[in-house]
Amino acid sequence: MSGADEYPSLWLHQVRRSYKQGESALDILCGAELALWPGETVALIAPSGAGKSTLLHIAGLLEKPDGGEVYVAGVPTAGMEDAQRTTLRRHQIGFVYQFHHLLPEFTALENIMMPQMIAGLAKGAARQRSEELLGYLGLGKRMEHRPAELSGGEQQRVAIARAVANGPRVLLADEPTGNLDPRTADHVFQALSQIVRATGLAALVATHNLDLAARMDRRVTLRDGLVVELP
Ligand code: ADP
Repeated sequence: MSGADEYPSLWLHQVRRSYKQGESALDILCGAELALWPGETVALIAPSGAGKSTLLHIAGLLEKPDGGEVYVAGVPTAGMEDAQRTTLRRHQIGFVYQFHHLLPEFTALENIMMPQMIAGLAKGAARQRSEELLGYLGLGKRMEHRPAELSGGEQQRVAIARAVANGPRVLLADEPTGNLDPRTADHVFQALSQIVRATGLAALVATHNLDLAARMDRRVTLRDGLVVELP
């Protein structure tokens, strides 16, 4: 067992978040507790308004909780300066959204090279890693295509490759297959699972797709501001 495996990839500990609503406060997270371990894929299933986006934003260090702590691979982040959090996010956390958000004027390959170069990798090394990732996801023949020249499923697979380009510990996905037909959703989910197993990262996937959720390692929901395990 490597040293890093002693810690969860991500641990939300006693996380609290509320929004002001006029005079009162809207409590969204009230001491939420969630640990994601390396190689694990966890489905987050909850009705609209329950706080999924809030949880994902806090997990992704995009938003600070009002209380509690977010540990990334054992490192506490609450006391970090913004620049430090940004660096940690860039290297350790990948995001996949419902809509791919690929840059339309760049090729699939360039879209994946970019975050690596922003993180400081040399162009040649970024290109090599991007080619490997695209090949691994079955997109070896699509590297020079722009997003508009790719199918919806291919676009999402490129978005997954981009999300893991910097070798993050944690992958956060918000309805990654929400915009796809069932068969394509299945292919995209397989690609995601393949990457999680191959790299040992941990994935938290917000989804309404119960078939896909059933194939993940665990399922959780949000109830009264807490993370609750589902059977
Ligand atoms: P979900 O993603 O599960 O639909 P959200 O995390 O987006 O839920 O939102 C949870 C609740 O918090 C909702 O009732 C929403 O209206 C409220 N909320 C979210 N963001 C804000 C904000 N910036 N200011 C005030 N209320 C917010």
